[in-house]
Order: sequence, then C-alpha cells, then structure tokens
Amino acid sequence: MKPFGIGDIRVDRIVERDGPFGLLSGLVPDANPEDLKPYYDWLTPNYLDPESFWMFMSVNSYLIRTGRYTILVDTCGGNHKERPHSPPFHQKETPWLDNLNAAGVGVEDIDFVMCTHLHVDHTGWNTKLEDGRWVPTFPNARYLFHKEELDHWDAHAKDHDGDELQVYQDSVLPVVEAGRVDLVARDHEIDTGLVIEALPGHTPGHRGINAESNGETALFTGDCLHHPSQIIFPEWNSGFCEDPEQARATRRAVLERLADTDTQMIPAHFVDPGRGHIVTAGDRFGFKPIVD
Ligand SMILES: [Zn+2]
Repeated sequence: MKPFGIGDIRVDRIVERDGPFGLLSGLVPDANPEDLKPYYDWLTPNYLDPESFWMFMSVNSYLIRTGRYTILVDTCGGNHKERPHSPPFHQKETPWLDNLNAAGVGVEDIDFVMCTHLHVDHTGWNTKLEDGRWVPTFPNARYLFHKEELDHWDAHAKDHDGDELQVYQDSVLPVVEAGRVDLVARDHEIDTGLVIEALPGHTPGHRGINAESNGETALFTGDCLHHPSQIIFPEWNSGFCEDPEQARATRRAVLERLADTDTQMIPAHFVDPGRGHIVTAGDRFGFKPIVD
C-alpha cells in the first residue's frame, strides 16, 4: 500500500483485513437504511453495500516514521489468538507481518508501539507465540500505554462477556511483565510534532495522536468512530463504546474541531484510502476522502 505524508512524517497503513465485515447495524446498533439512504451517493458502494446493509471496514495499523523514530499505532488482531467470542479475530493467520516488512520495516526497527486502546483489534500483534508463550513481538520497542486504560482492563476485563480477559492476558500482560511498558501522560509528545491526546468514551483511556509537520496536520482518531455513517450521525455509538455519553461527546467535539479545516482525520477502521477531511454539509457533517 502506498505511503502518504504529513509534512515530513511518513505514514504507511499496514492492513490486516479489509473489506466486507458484517452488518453495519451489528457494529453500530442505531444505523438503519432509512436514515442513511439520503447519503448513499457517497456512502455506497465504498463504505456500505445498499442491498445487504453490510459495511466495508479495515483493520489496520499505522506505521509512522518521523525520521528519528519508527512508531506503530495499533496492532490489529494478531495471529494464533484464541478469540471464540470474536470470530473475525479467532485463530487467524494473516500476512500482517509480511505487510509490515513490505513497508521496509522489520519488527526490530519499531521504537514505540502505541495502542489507542486495549481492545481485541488494537492489541493482537503486541505479542507473538514463541515456544508456547506469548512474548513481545517487537524486541526493541517501548510500549506506550495509558494508566487509565491499563487500570480499567486490569480491574474489569473479567467483567465482560467477550474475549476481554483473554486479550488482557495474552496481548497486554506479557508486555507489562516483560518490563516493556512506559505509562505516558495524556499529552505525551512521542517526537516533535507527534502528540498524544485523550479522546475518552469508546474506552476510559482511549487516545488519539496529533501530527504536525511542515505546516500539515492530522489527527489519528482511533475508534472515536468506526464507520463514515457516524460522521453523519455522531450520536450513533458502536456497540463497544464503554461510556456512551462520553463517546458521543468526544466524537462530536472531534468532528466540530476538524470540520472545514486542512487537518486530515485518520480513523482506525476506514477502508481505502483510510483518511480524509471533515466538511460541513447542511446541518450535518460530510467526508471527503483524500485520494492520491
Ligand atoms: Zn477498533
């Protein structure tokens, strides 16, 4: 996949899975054809199949190279993970690592790993299976975690009825126990022009990254929103948003801030090209993908 630039920062999208993913209403329970039909001119066919109401979604990491550091944002679902409650991530063997290598980077080159939050599709490649044990995938990386997020899953992973406990045990704890985690501030600067921002709601410690270089700006928004339909209806949460009111407020604030600016929005799950600009369209927001 072709890299893109934010000023002098180089970004590669490392895809694990891209394409039809299931019913949109399976992920975003409020989504329905009646409300979305007026927007089918841009939502379909790229983001939504109008016949089946299936959404098209991507699970990907972002590889950011500043010249000084190589940073991996989110680590997808991973290979060989036991995820009986999350079929798209259960016992997978995808070529994600080959895709990383194809971008010219080996696991040993990653300086920092940052998971926007600790869900199943953002933590998988934190670890790999070696002699029956889960060990950190990136031998030289520091993992930048957020205390609120780590504390939340440490205390509550067991309270969820999905694969949360398993995710915590095989993709988070091994990195903590290997002493590879740095707990960083809400506004931690990873490198010049690359600054973490708290975007809570989807999970308590959910984070994004502001990027600024040579007059160009972008916001990596993680899972503030999963699908472009939530640009039109910011009040629509995913079924996985831990704090529904906070998730709505954060989503709306991000859209208002980015609307009609030159700042790119780079969410975690948008299909190719994966990024774009927020525009105001009547009394709602719209989306202009950035096509090279
Ligand atoms: Zn996600």
